[in-house]
Amino acid sequence: MANDASTVFDLVILGGGSGGYAAALRGAQLGLDVALIEKNKVGGTCLHNGCIPTKALLHAGEIADQARDSAEFGVKASFDGIDMAAVHQYKDGVISGLYKGLQGLIASRKVTYVEGEGRLSSPTSVDVNGQRYEGRHVLLATGSVPKSLPGLEIDGNRVISSDHALVLDRVPQSAIVLGGGVIGVEFASAWKSFGADVTIVEALPNLVPVEDVNSSKLLERAFRKRGIKFSVGSRFSGVEYTANGVKVSLENGKTFEAELLLVAVGRGPVSQGLGYEEAGVATDRGYVLVDEYMRTNVPTISAVGDLVPTLQLAHVGFAEGILVAERLAGLPTVPIDYDGVPRVTYCHPEVASVGVTEEKAKERYGADKVVTLKYNLGGNGKSRILKTTGEIKLVQVRDGAVVGVHMVGDRMGEQVGEAQLIYNWEALPAEVAQLIHAHPTQNEALGEAHLALAGKPLHSHD
Ligand SMILES: Cc1cc2nc3c(=O)[nH]c(=O)nc-3n(C[C@H](O)[C@H](O)[C@H](O)COP(=O)(O)OP(=O)(O)OC[C@H]3O[C@@H](n4cnc5c(N)ncnc54)[C@H](O)[C@@H]3O)c2cc1C
Repeated sequence: MANDASTVFDLVILGGGSGGYAAALRGAQLGLDVALIEKNKVGGTCLHNGCIPTKALLHAGEIADQARDSAEFGVKASFDGIDMAAVHQYKDGVISGLYKGLQGLIASRKVTYVEGEGRLSSPTSVDVNGQRYEGRHVLLATGSVPKSLPGLEIDGNRVISSDHALVLDRVPQSAIVLGGGVIGVEFASAWKSFGADVTIVEALPNLVPVEDVNSSKLLERAFRKRGIKFSVGSRFSGVEYTANGVKVSLENGKTFEAELLLVAVGRGPVSQGLGYEEAGVATDRGYVLVDEYMRTNVPTISAVGDLVPTLQLAHVGFAEGILVAERLAGLPTVPIDYDGVPRVTYCHPEVASVGVTEEKAKERYGADKVVTLKYNLGGNGKSRILKTTGEIKLVQVRDGAVVGVHMVGDRMGEQVGEAQLIYNWEALPAEVAQLIHAHPTQNEALGEAHLALAGKPLHSHD
């Protein structure tokens, strides 16, 4: 192995996804000499196989639904079908614009970008393309890949992962989605909008099971109305190929048939065979273990993003990457409050939340200390105009701050910005009630909910 001893970087980053490139950009901004090593395309899962492409598909689906429902608004339009090649062209156009922008940013911040598959060769170096990149510090940010279940083989044809689903050249006639978490319900929603017959299979008792159960119930009701079928509370037991597709069996004996099966049971860390163990980095089931400052047990190595056992979200990767860069540059840093991370599931209707669920709040503060309030979007003018239904549920510590905001309804993801300020600034309902929310917006519903929680409801009943 050639040893390029001439350069010792301040920071060598393995993996150029959300976590890795955020650390690179912030580190370079703070004057660190940074090398960023990426085997595929900078931007990682989020830009190329995750957040951005799925949201483009969901937006195309929203337009399809609007065309179908146009008569409800007095508009004469008809839905003639989906041109999947054109949908991909639109989606890929969005990705390539962002990709070019990101490449430009990396270059303009003078980050040394290395394309190639890297391997940790010591606690202070990464080998790639026959070259050794030495660093005072190394950041592991190799992300995650789709997981499957024992004995369930993803063949990329009839049994597919989200990676395959994002490039599928057709709208499936019918699909079974294994997993009712974020990725599963987003694909189910987009495919239904495109005209597919969709069934979701979830082993836990509810769809989007990490959300407040009220949000799950509202989503289930909305999906039922849309004709998205689902089975909850029974585990997958097997899949077999049929003449035209697949047949999925559950432990409760039920079976479902469809053209294809999308496996969306979560994502596992990319950490095998990359030299992590040899360098002494502690892992648990493949996840690299870190403390609240993203430090591993090896003093010269940090890790961020989907590779570590925190929330698998792009903005969490960004925040963790920035934290590491700032810490290495000597700035004061504070640990991330993961409850304060906004979470959005972009299906139709959207599910958005920040803070803790009612159940968690009761565990944490005591059942008698927790107050909740539900505000129905039926009382919100803009939601009526959009013909969307849903609710905002607030969770408050009695006489104290709002510790949970849980929202369901089209476009409610856009309201999570204010919700996260409310949570993270530990706002009291009366303080939020005093702020003026523009009329008629969906944002107003957040204001109304806090007016009600503060004991002075305006457009809702006492
Ligand atoms: C379908 C889908 C939808 C999603 N939607 C959202 C969403 O709406 N909002 C949201 O916040 N999150 C979403 N996510 C999650 C989000 O994409 C991830 O949380 C985020 O990408 C994690 O960033 P990361 O940097 O940890 O890993 P990744 O983005 O996976 O990046 C890791 C990078 O490391 C590279 N790499 C791995 N091994 C090596 C090696 N040996 N050498 C060099 N490079 C290597 C990989 O090529 C990759 O580019 C979604 C994910 C999926 C799959």
